Amino acid sequence: MQSPHILIVEDELVTRNTLRSIFEAEGYVVHEANDGEEMNRLLNQEPISLIIMDINLPGKNGLLLARELREKDNIALIFLTGRDNEVDKILGLEIGADDYITKPFNPRELTIRARNLLGRTRTPVEDKQPSMVERYLFNDWVLDVNSRSLISPTQESFKLPRSEFRAMIEFLEHPGKILTRNDLLLKMTGRELKPHDRTVDVTIRRIRKHFESHPGSSEIITTIHGEGYRFCGKLTSE
Ligand code: CA
Repeated sequence: MQSPHILIVEDELVTRNTLRSIFEAEGYVVHEANDGEEMNRLLNQEPISLIIMDINLPGKNGLLLARELREKDNIALIFLTGRDNEVDKILGLEIGADDYITKPFNPRELTIRARNLLGRTRTPVEDKQPSMVERYLFNDWVLDVNSRSLISPTQESFKLPRSEFRAMIEFLEHPGKILTRNDLLLKMTGRELKPHDRTVDVTIRRIRKHFESHPGSSEIITTIHGEGYRFCGKLTSE
């Protein structure tokens, strides 16, 4: 099996060195970037499958870089953040980070999250289903598995970040079933739910935003109060 390539985007040398030794010890090939420019250059050169990114960077900050990244790519992304109010920004801006971790971080927690996100141990949901379903059709919408795109009844196409894509697959594989926040988080990021974790709710809100732009689609994912979420769409075959 090939070692996954990971890119650390962080301007603090000490943190970068710490991260490098943590991930090298786990068998990753580690690349380092000091800022967004270096990040983009490395992304063009190396087969990077995961980015660990600080928010406060020289030049464009991490939030801006993540937004640009999302416009062209579905690469897995974990944010490093120093402050709690940055967590709000990450979730509030809805840029589709797959996960975040606060400094000072626990090396073990970080590597577990990275591994889970890359799907190497628990393989929460493979990004391509073993059933080889390529397209899910429901309520005039399509989820295209290969391009990870959600296509609206008017043929608008939204490329979903990994967390939203994995949540949609889980819903479509379990129509009508109530999925708890813990179920969904595990599938999305491979980690267990902790108190006050709003990652799932924010991700569902982002998914719903796509549906809400079309009449009759707002009830596709419903909230089951105190329990979780349920896919109430109608699946059809090609
Ligand atoms: Ca920094």
